[in-house]
Amino acid sequence: MAFYKTKYDVVVVGAGHAGCEAALAAARMGCSVLLMAIDLDKLAAMPCSPSIGGMAKGQLVKEIDALGGEMAKVADKTAIQYRTLNTKKGPAVHATRTQNDKMRYHMAMKAVIEKQPGLELKQAMVEKLVIEGGKIAGVEDNTGFGYQAKAVVLATGTFLRGLIHIGFNSIKAGRAGEFASYGLPAHLKDLGFKLGRMKTGTPPRLRKTSIDFSMFTKQDSERSPTPFSFFTNEIIMPQLPSYIGHTNPNSHKIVQDNLKRSALYGGIIKGVSARYCPSFEDKIVRFPDKGRHQIILEPEGLDTDEIYASGLGNSLPMEIQVRFVRSIKGLEEAEIMRPAYAIEYDYIDPLQLKPTLETRRIAGLFLAGQINGTSGYEEAAAQGIWAGINAACKVQARPSFILDRSQAYIGVMIDDLVTRGTREPYRIFTSRAEYRLMLREDNADLRLMEMGHELGLIDNDTSRDVKERKKQINKEIQRIKSTIIKPEEKINDYLQNKGTMPLSSGIYLDQILKRSEVDYHAVEILATSPDYISKRVARQVEIEIKYEGYIKRQLGEIEKFKNMECMKIPEAFDFSRVHGLSNELKEKLSSIRPSSLGQASRIDGITPAALSALMIGIKVAGRKLSSES
Ligand SMILES: Cc1cc2nc3c(=O)[nH]c(=O)nc-3n(C[C@H](O)[C@H](O)[C@H](O)COP(=O)(O)OP(=O)(O)OC[C@H]3O[C@@H](n4cnc5c(N)ncnc54)[C@H](O)[C@@H]3O)c2cc1C
Repeated sequence: MAFYKTKYDVVVVGAGHAGCEAALAAARMGCSVLLMAIDLDKLAAMPCSPSIGGMAKGQLVKEIDALGGEMAKVADKTAIQYRTLNTKKGPAVHATRTQNDKMRYHMAMKAVIEKQPGLELKQAMVEKLVIEGGKIAGVEDNTGFGYQAKAVVLATGTFLRGLIHIGFNSIKAGRAGEFASYGLPAHLKDLGFKLGRMKTGTPPRLRKTSIDFSMFTKQDSERSPTPFSFFTNEIIMPQLPSYIGHTNPNSHKIVQDNLKRSALYGGIIKGVSARYCPSFEDKIVRFPDKGRHQIILEPEGLDTDEIYASGLGNSLPMEIQVRFVRSIKGLEEAEIMRPAYAIEYDYIDPLQLKPTLETRRIAGLFLAGQINGTSGYEEAAAQGIWAGINAACKVQARPSFILDRSQAYIGVMIDDLVTRGTREPYRIFTSRAEYRLMLREDNADLRLMEMGHELGLIDNDTSRDVKERKKQINKEIQRIKSTIIKPEEKINDYLQNKGTMPLSSGIYLDQILKRSEVDYHAVEILATSPDYISKRVARQVEIEIKYEGYIKRQLGEIEKFKNMECMKIPEAFDFSRVHGLSNELKEKLSSIRPSSLGQASRIDGITPAALSALMIGIKVAGRKLSSES
């Protein structure tokens, strides 16, 4: 086999949301990187919803940004609508969601990739891995040409044995209009990787001019939105509305009567679909009594007529799709520009990965994105930056980069994947994060930017700003906690105007700030700080004081969690020799190979009794080791 002249530090296969972040992170850490994709015109494509963020996904995007990734910046450059979700609830569940111009998103990300020093982009179909002595050494494309590398990241999305379905018509494709990858999954299977099959789907795209929008409820973008990225100073794109409508019993009947003709209910699809992202057929079957389901018409961009019909995903034959869509009020004349379809694809069971996303089977091979059984642009991008960082750390012989469940949503997701695995497309939720009060969108920079700086992904000035901001936050909290407010007339007038109790005696300012009727503005009125307090500092001060009790409790839980995480399990530990463990658990532990007692405690089937047996086993092994040395 002939090889390309350049030997790369890192080769990334796949230029989707995962691959782009992986390649940029490794290149920005000083590696020579090659990014490969089947079609460069589909780099960072959004094959489904034209949106970034949402519940828990917004937290992931902020964390990627705080680590020096690209998704949030490109989202701001191309956002045509902003919404902050759950503003009536606590800050732990506030989440940003943008709608984006898909074409501009692709072009903006491609421009960043093309301008990145040390990063090359090539169009090719990778067919095989090159392995030497159990270690990765490169990749081979479908022309038999090779590219050498010290580390490889596979981020191949929905392309592995991709098969799309419209009714009983099935077409081999990674997405509509794109080749699928069939050689690589066969090769991975031959190498002994355990693969599974999953399914996802997308709704039809409708022609804007064929829709009667007067039948829908307009939903405008937020007036003064907060940018997604901590680095965005200005929102540049014109903002467009979405439109909300509903299906009706007649639409449901059309689908019900033709369920057997859909790929999903006609028995064609074998892949496991996501419970939380049901196709329309699923909705009909699961909620038969529901008379209507919400749909949202979302613009796909500024310069296109295409409208994304969220909520109408299906795998029905075209004839039925047309009848179904036109049965909805306002869509009686709707033109389907792109049909809805379902897609099945192979994924690799993530229990075969280390917490760095490196495979246990082949050293130097990392997996990121949908290939690991997740679904969603944000989940993919978060795994991408993680795998890119760890591939670079491997090549540069630096310590691995791991965040635990108390530090980041990314840490929660990856720990879930490599410790529990997944049988259906994994999507991040706030409910998955037990320490979510600490893992908010608003403090992602304070949690992660200094780590990004140590990795070389965040510049000195930004890191200095973060340190300075932390100091300001602590100082202002101490000032507020030590400031006594006396029951003066103008103060009590202010408090009564705010609808809260006037003072009868002096109290500390933080006790006032804890009241639900007031926010940091009260501090500015009652006892202005001698220092300049920015909006971002004020926000942190407000949250830290208002949620002080909950935060203290959560910090206590995190301490217990960290104690378990600190109880490391030696890499070569022999789980089969632990007394008191069932054979099933011995097998499971030996294949997952948890790196700490904490990780072991999260493996399905581990009981408190098994955990104590394991703890004793680790201690005995430790003592034996020290007595032999
Ligand atoms: C039809 C459809 C509907 C979806 N619906 C949803 C949804 O409802 N909700 C949701 O959260 N997510 C949905 N998704 C998933 C979402 O698109 C993905 O989660 C996300 O794009 C995954 O990103 P990724 O980087 O892992 O892979 P992708 O974005 O899929 O990118 C994969 C990349 O790998 C390249 N590639 C693949 N094989 C090879 C090879 N052998 N050689 C070279 N390059 C290769 C491709 O060219 C591409 O660049 C849907 C996806 C599709 C296709």
